[in-house]
Amino acid sequence: MDDSTLYKLCQEYGNNARMWSRKFAALLPEVAKRQLYSKHGFHSIFEFAAKLAGMNRKSVEEVLRTYSKVEDRPLLKAQIEEFGWSKIRVITPLIETVEETKLVEMVKTLPRSALEECVQNLRPATQSEKTDPTCWEFETITFKVDQKTALEFRKFQQKLEKETKAKMPFGKVLQKLLEGVKPETIKPRKTKAPQKVTRYIPAETKRETVARHNGKCAFPNCNKPYQEIHHPHRFAIKKSHENIVPLCKNHHHIAHAGLVKNEEQVPALWSVKTERDWNDYKSRVDVMVKRY
Ligand SMILES: [Zn+2]
Ligand SMILES: [Zn+2]
Repeated sequence: MDDSTLYKLCQEYGNNARMWSRKFAALLPEVAKRQLYSKHGFHSIFEFAAKLAGMNRKSVEEVLRTYSKVEDRPLLKAQIEEFGWSKIRVITPLIETVEETKLVEMVKTLPRSALEECVQNLRPATQSEKTDPTCWEFETITFKVDQKTALEFRKFQQKLEKETKAKMPFGKVLQKLLEGVKPETIKPRKTKAPQKVTRYIPAETKRETVARHNGKCAFPNCNKPYQEIHHPHRFAIKKSHENIVPLCKNHHHIAHAGLVKNEEQVPALWSVKTERDWNDYKSRVDVMVKRY
């Protein structure tokens, strides 16, 4: 057997193994309800699952807990067999606040780690997260501004606080504002024939945007290092690298799942939303790109 055949078999068997263990897990709530295990001489459902399917206690507990949370959510329940209970378990904190059909769509389009990120972003921040200043060091700058600017600044602060549901001290507001400022574009040398813009992002453009966000994901309050570059206006549509932003993998997934609110605006104003806007052309393009 050559390497590639061996690898293909591993993939195939692995996929099948996963599918069958999902199917097995989906039977457990009914087994528990009927106490089927005791009718066959098992002491508990844990012994039943371990002996019949090699499933450990922790998994059985989580399967049952997840099922009990989605008991009256038939659409979500159906997704467990399709995508596995661990993905559904991730979104259970949103069950009471987000519509079931929206949650199903999220489960379908996002990988598990991006779902976790979504849940974190959508859950109202706890008090300690809201005011935790440890992530940045302080320096004091004092300056005078005219009344109109002060008003605009406060308005922007309020908008940010509303969007992020977190307290935004002036320093942080300024930081967010600066993130949105594009550095002066260098005047094109002479009048060369306009170069054709390709999918390839020029190194300089990429460096600039990464530096502007300190090498971090541009999504508000995400402190992960950036992993991918995103085109908020989609390269496929605009054929331009203007406004590109660095994102971590999870937020990039979330963006292409159509779940970033205010994506046309500066990243400081972004937040996670629960539903794709099908009227949004770029969202439809994303779906098409994903399909092919
Ligand atoms: Zn992207
Ligand atoms: Zn991120």
